[in-house]
Amino acid sequence: MNTQTLRRSEAAMNARRANEDVAILLVEDEQDLLELLRYNLAREGYEVSTATSGEEALKAVRNESPDLMLLDLMLPGMDGLEVCRTLKSREHTSDIPVIMLTAKGEESDIVQGLEMGADDYVTKPFSPRVLLARINAVLRRREQGGDRQAASALHVGEISLDAARHEVIASGKRVDMTATEFKLLALLMSKPGRVFTRQQIIESIHDGFAAVTDRSVDVQVVSLRRKLGPSGNNIETVRGVGYRFKES
Ligand code: CA
Repeated sequence: MNTQTLRRSEAAMNARRANEDVAILLVEDEQDLLELLRYNLAREGYEVSTATSGEEALKAVRNESPDLMLLDLMLPGMDGLEVCRTLKSREHTSDIPVIMLTAKGEESDIVQGLEMGADDYVTKPFSPRVLLARINAVLRRREQGGDRQAASALHVGEISLDAARHEVIASGKRVDMTATEFKLLALLMSKPGRVFTRQQIIESIHDGFAAVTDRSVDVQVVSLRRKLGPSGNNIETVRGVGYRFKES
């Protein structure tokens, strides 16, 4: 084994050790997928418990407090959205991060889930590697306090946003923008990688005067991208769901 390989395997081992304290509740009714995910999560060092129905999932969170829940949306009986809604409405479980596991073509469910407070989603079929990356991103955001919106300065990639000075610098150049565009950019940059639905964006940037519609969010995004020039590519459209700022 050369030094580089050795270092890499050491890093992997350290990551696994760090994951040992992280408890994940996996809720999935497809037995094959459940086993595949359980295997992959355990291999990464996570402490995994499982549930195969919504009712079972809610019972499980009463007994143990997972650090994260992977929640299939299509479940027999109580579905994933109902589980998410219940979880987020109860004080002692509302903070548990949720990543939804969804099938293609369930955009309206994804939107509902995100608006209910789910942190992220992955669309089936997905590779375990993609899921692990999402889990890491959600846990990392939580660790950083999640909401960096209150921070006065945000730096992601080539873009810096200074709330106190109401200033945006993209690729070294100052960018003039409207108050709404500024709020929109601050929201997206506060959680890189996190998808925001149009409704969430409206609620966040609404100033109480202008009537904001889904369509006007799209218009704001177009304008924002244009003003940011090449850095505008950081604002990604998530088809049928909303927008997100690319993770650097
Ligand atoms: Ca299912």
